Amino acid sequence: MFSGKEGAVIATRPRWWRREGEAAQCGLCFRGCRIPAGGNGFCGVRGWDGERFHSTFLGRFSSIAVDPVEKKPLRCWRPGTRIFSLGGVGCNMRCPFCQNHSIAQPANLGDVPLAVVTPEELARLVRGERLSSVAFTYNEPTLQAEYILEAAPLLREAGIAVVLVTNGMFSPEALTDLLPWVDAANVDVKTFDPEKYAALGGSLETVKENTARMAQGGVHVELTNLVTPGVSDSLEDFTCLVEWVANLSPEIPLHITRYFPAYRFTTPSTDLSLLRVFKDIARTRLSHSY
Ligand code: SF4
Repeated sequence: MFSGKEGAVIATRPRWWRREGEAAQCGLCFRGCRIPAGGNGFCGVRGWDGERFHSTFLGRFSSIAVDPVEKKPLRCWRPGTRIFSLGGVGCNMRCPFCQNHSIAQPANLGDVPLAVVTPEELARLVRGERLSSVAFTYNEPTLQAEYILEAAPLLREAGIAVVLVTNGMFSPEALTDLLPWVDAANVDVKTFDPEKYAALGGSLETVKENTARMAQGGVHVELTNLVTPGVSDSLEDFTCLVEWVANLSPEIPLHITRYFPAYRFTTPSTDLSLLRVFKDIARTRLSHSY
């Protein structure tokens, strides 16, 4: 179906980085890792050997499937359609309740079986399935940004839309380059407490800024808030989140989803009654809450 060969050549090369003396500075996401020679960045997929900045995981995918678009979740964009979905490995955050930890937070990224899909093969595969959209999902798609930029023109030429299911932690420069090529996105807003966001390895301000840029830049944006005990179950914080979304646009859909124990979290699942309360709060200000 696709090449899947170890070492298959992909033209994609890392960008958004610069040399700084003996080290390299990555500029793909909000972290801006300074990587010493022989080291890797926080995400583990980008590294610097002292001569070459590398991302051996570009164009290599751990998971490939065809999903209902509602599973992304997107409810107000091409409803009822199916979407070609693929994900790689690694993440630039460290949520201890990650439901996709086996690919996003494995002990060793190199242990995850990966298949190479060139941008040309991707366009062929999607056309072969008679689909008209592709989602970069399952792990954080920011880490495939160079690949997405290489594939997007081919996909657009074939009438195939590009969707990101993301934590929204792009650097400003990377988002500037990606924006023209992204048709729709679901952004995962983990919590509205900045300190708790930082404890998960993210940044509330970054996700707010990038969500606003996408929404104002013509991307169809939907948001997800996973209601996790002790992380994002505060009524006060959720009310602030809803207020922020309403100020961006009351037409932005908000998905309120239920936490289940996963990875390092064993706390019982979120009480369904709390989700109903959250939905009632969302309904006071937003046109679409699910
Ligand atoms: S993508 Fe982010 S986490 Fe990964 S090396 Fe670059 S700045 Fe660091």
